[in-house]
Amino acid sequence: MPFCPNCKSEYREGFTECYDCQIDLVDELVDDKRLAELKKQGYDIFEDWISIRTFEQNYEAQQLVDLFDYNGIHSQILSQADSMFKLPGELSIIRVMIQLENFDKAIEVLKNQEQN
Ligand SMILES: [Zn+2]
Repeated sequence: MPFCPNCKSEYREGFTECYDCQIDLVDELVDDKRLAELKKQGYDIFEDWISIRTFEQNYEAQQLVDLFDYNGIHSQILSQADSMFKLPGELSIIRVMIQLENFDKAIEVLKNQEQN
């Protein structure tokens, strides 16, 4: 069943956009159990965003953002200098953040990339 990742409304099959939020529906919501699992695996999660990879160089992070873009995954670069989130750890670390609902798709993209 498609869901709206924003308001969590459930839609019937065939719907692709939430009427209220005007954003794309996703196949499944990331539930609390999955969240706990990801946190246990060491992923940093900030609200609806997950830090999928960390880099030391900005251009490396940018390459990944471009790759995700190419695959239709919205991502953003977050460095410790930004004030959007208060993050623990290294100041020099640059994170590539994606939205939680894209996590599986992003992992797939990373896997394919590593194979090539
Ligand atoms: Zn909605």
